Amino acid sequence: MSLGLKTGVAYAKELDENDELSCYRDQFHIPKDGNGKNWIYMCGNSLGLQPKTTESYIQQELKDWANLGVEGHFEAKNPWMPYHEFLTDAMAKIVGAKPLEVVIMNTLTTNLHLLMVSFYQPTSTKYKIVIESDAFPSDRYAVESQLHFHGFDHKNGVIEWKPRKGEELLRIEDLEAILDQQGDEIALLLIGGVNYYTGQYLDLKTISNLGHAKGCMVGIDLAHGVGNIQPELHESGVDFAVWCTYKYLNSGPGSLGGLFVHEKHAYNNDLKRFSGWWSHNKKTRFNMRQEFDVMPGAEGYQLSNPPILSMAAIKASLDIFEEVGMNALRKKSVALTGYLEYLIGQIDTDRIKIITPSNPNERGCQLSIQVKNADKSLHQQLTDKHIITDWREPDVIRFAPVPLYNSFEDVYKMIEILKKAL
Ligand SMILES: *Cc1c(COP(=O)(O)O)cnc(C)c1O
Repeated sequence: MSLGLKTGVAYAKELDENDELSCYRDQFHIPKDGNGKNWIYMCGNSLGLQPKTTESYIQQELKDWANLGVEGHFEAKNPWMPYHEFLTDAMAKIVGAKPLEVVIMNTLTTNLHLLMVSFYQPTSTKYKIVIESDAFPSDRYAVESQLHFHGFDHKNGVIEWKPRKGEELLRIEDLEAILDQQGDEIALLLIGGVNYYTGQYLDLKTISNLGHAKGCMVGIDLAHGVGNIQPELHESGVDFAVWCTYKYLNSGPGSLGGLFVHEKHAYNNDLKRFSGWWSHNKKTRFNMRQEFDVMPGAEGYQLSNPPILSMAAIKASLDIFEEVGMNALRKKSVALTGYLEYLIGQIDTDRIKIITPSNPNERGCQLSIQVKNADKSLHQQLTDKHIITDWREPDVIRFAPVPLYNSFEDVYKMIEILKKAL
């Protein structure tokens, strides 16, 4: 990776000059300190920055609401009735899915529960759920509560896929061993496509094949993957996936999430599910008093008419992704994170260890570093200098250089300050 890379600010500037996506930085609001100096924002894995276009997209809907009231459902510039459809194609491209397989609705954990209603169908002998030992807490709580809901105990119902002793990363052969030994008792694998803590990007197709070979359903949490890596969900064969849009998709705090249901389940009306009027066939939805007629594919999982203002913010963001394309974005991301990795390697200290995989195919943009003898004060020192990173107890700092709005110079400056702080 370090082939040809150099230290020094002049080189960082040269990389920015040669970066075809450098113009997109200007399309985002970069937070500033009191003197108008930009923060160095490395936290797009937690909350993405605001596109400058978001305001006008939301204003459009406020204006149409003011001028049209309920008529806006059909007469607005972007009619509210089919509004979610304006997001589907771009969203499907980002995750590598067919439009039939994707919908924007609710929030991540809610969608996870709704999809477990369909895809976690335990029996008295096959009911266990595999998660990563470092699964995001919300996913763990969701899984435990599903076990309880079905009358099982989470202590033996949850199987953890753990890194080996002395290691931080997961090995696929350990998942294979779990499935070999306990596959007959396992109903569902629920795995983070990109682990939020280590930044490890797991091979979804391999996981999908291993799970299916033992008759397990396979679900993926893509919170840290969407807009970051190219998960090729359709091709991977996983049964379902869920994600949020406020991290790498820059749609604003608490904005709506998305979900994927593989085409192989699109027309299976026998799947159990929780439904509402928005699950019903669009053509006859307003005839009311009709027998339930569920829509095929992901759309059939919708329950309610959705919040248009949140969707407008998502549309602003997806229009940028549509213009840039994931291939170009990923290409820059690999270069930007490779540069960060290189500069970290140049720091003269034995206190830092990168725990994220060094192979770019096994990570997204985030690097997680473990700092020996550090406490949260190191993170605080960075924050005091307006370097926004993310601290995880006991000793991990996560840096997420985001290719849409972070520059090579951002990375350079951050490392200079980190060196001093160390
Ligand atoms: C951010 C994140 C969530 C957040 O869930 P919400 O329901 O949107 O609050 C869940 N899981 C993972 C892995 C995350 O990274």
